[in-house]
Amino acid sequence: MSYDNNNIFAKILRGEIPCKKIYEDDYVLSFHDINPQKKIHALVIPKGKYIDLDDFSEKASADEMVGLLKGINFVAKKLGISVDTGKGYRALANISEHGGQEVPHLHFHLFGGERVGKMVE
Ligand code: 5GP
Repeated sequence: MSYDNNNIFAKILRGEIPCKKIYEDDYVLSFHDINPQKKIHALVIPKGKYIDLDDFSEKASADEMVGLLKGINFVAKKLGISVDTGKGYRALANISEHGGQEVPHLHFHLFGGERVGKMVE
């Protein structure tokens, strides 16, 4: 499967569709999920064209990998849900069909601001 340049997050990255931006740097863009499942529901996506976490793990550079993890940490701090600024959160990446991934551009969901609950249903 090849990367679909017309997926919704690719359009957000190109500025063709608006988002409620939380943070941006050379490696990541973060914005609020359009359909929040918890009090805080943020998305963190790499700027590179990666379909999912497996694709990213195989192809991304070391700098991109560090950039994504640092980005998640920075966003959690900024939203007041990190271990040092809040009470913690859940980071979750759905991968492909059985993972329930809908948008084929790697993204981490950050859920917080309240107890997140059961890990899987
Ligand atoms: P997935 O199921 O692929 O892990 O999650 C995709 C997420 O993207 C869903 O939580 C959905 O609400 C969110 N989403 C889909 N379209 C948009 C959009 O246009 N803008 C934003 N901010 N989030 C979106």
